[in-house]
Parts: sequence; structure tokens; C-alpha cells
Amino acid sequence: MSSQEPKRKFKLSLYCTKSEFELLQSQINVIKTESKKSSTEVINSALTLYSAGLSQKEVEINQSCDKKTSEEPVLLTSPSAINNLNSIVSLHNATCTNCVNMVASQTTGYATSFTVKCNICDFDYMWNSSLQLPNGMDLINMRVVHSYFTSGMIPSQLERFSDCLGAGTIGKNKMQTFVNVFSEVVAAERQLSCENAISQEVQASESPEGIDIITDARDGTQSSRMLCA
Ligand SMILES: [Zn+2]
Repeated sequence: MSSQEPKRKFKLSLYCTKSEFELLQSQINVIKTESKKSSTEVINSALTLYSAGLSQKEVEINQSCDKKTSEEPVLLTSPSAINNLNSIVSLHNATCTNCVNMVASQTTGYATSFTVKCNICDFDYMWNSSLQLPNGMDLINMRVVHSYFTSGMIPSQLERFSDCLGAGTIGKNKMQTFVNVFSEVVAAERQLSCENAISQEVQASESPEGIDIITDARDGTQSSRMLCA
């Protein structure tokens, strides 16, 4: 619209209840205050988004893959992390109808952070494929390493598995950090498990002096193994 065109006052009639009109008016005022847009721009943006939503309903999303997409790197993530991505995209779509792009910016082990960006507006947000644990470590990396430790795989098998999958890899130094973290936790759990088992046997014993175990550690009880260690 040309800036030279003289402005005139037009009336827009709405068929609704008074409370509905007041709610609409207050919402327009909030958007006007936050974005410093005129009433016309606010209504125009809302109608543009509405019509874009209508046209998007007719778009078919292709969920099959071809040769090129079948060879893309695999991304490990979790439903909650995907919900975060959905919130980021919704945040953008509230003010802009353009599609956002995702560009991988950093990979840490099996977790990747992406820049979610719009080429039209100045929207720019960082999304991580992994949630973070309270100790700052990536949940995805912890889950993969935990699965690796309990699988019985040897390092060369994990290396081949990761190369073939293309979802990331963990270097030797980083893996040693995980080994240290898990070793501490497993040692503490083992000690607690043995102490609990002995405590249960002492409580179950009929002798006032407790238990007197003579064993060559070939039985499967935790307490016997600990006493003979
Ligand atoms: Zn945008």
C-alpha cells in the first residue's frame, strides 16, 4: 500500500457477543503493544496465518524415503526433545508463515544441536536432539553408553556399529569419562547390594550371634561372595 495514499476511517462490523468483542479487542491491544503494529497490520497478519493454515491442510507430507534420504545420517532423540522442537516451530509460526530451516551446528557424541532459522524474519533458535541431565550430560549419550556397557559389545564392535548407523560416535577420552562415572555408580550399588543381602541373612538367622558362613564361594549368594572376597 502506497504511503502517499490518504488515510480514511473504515468500520469493520463483527457479528458476535459483547464479551467476545471485548476479548478480541483486548487480544489485538496486547499484540499491538508487544509488536508495535497497527490494528490493520495485526488483523492482516492473523488473516494471513489463517489462510496459510487452510492451504497447509491440503499439503501431503511425504513420509517415504528415496535413495538420497535413505542415506542421511540417523538422529537419535526422544519424544520430549521432539516436543521442544515443536514448541520452537510453533513460536515462529505465531508471527510468520515462512517455513523454518534446521541446520546442524554441533555434534557431541550421539547428540546434535541444530539452529532453527527463518530466512524471512529474524527468528533464530537453538534446538538440541538430547535433553540434558542434571549433571549437564546429554541424556542420549548416557542412554547409548549404558546400552553399550550392558550389551557385551567390545570397543571395535561399537565402532563398526556407530560407523554403519551414522548417528554419531564417542571418542576414547569421552568414553573414559563415562567409564569413570559408571564405575563409581556400579561400585556403590554393588556395596549396597552386598550389605543389604548380609543384613537380610542376619535378620533371618536364628543364632543370637548372627550368621557363620563357611563357603568356597561357589554358591550364588551375594553375601557369601563378599565375605570370601
Ligand atoms: Zn519467519
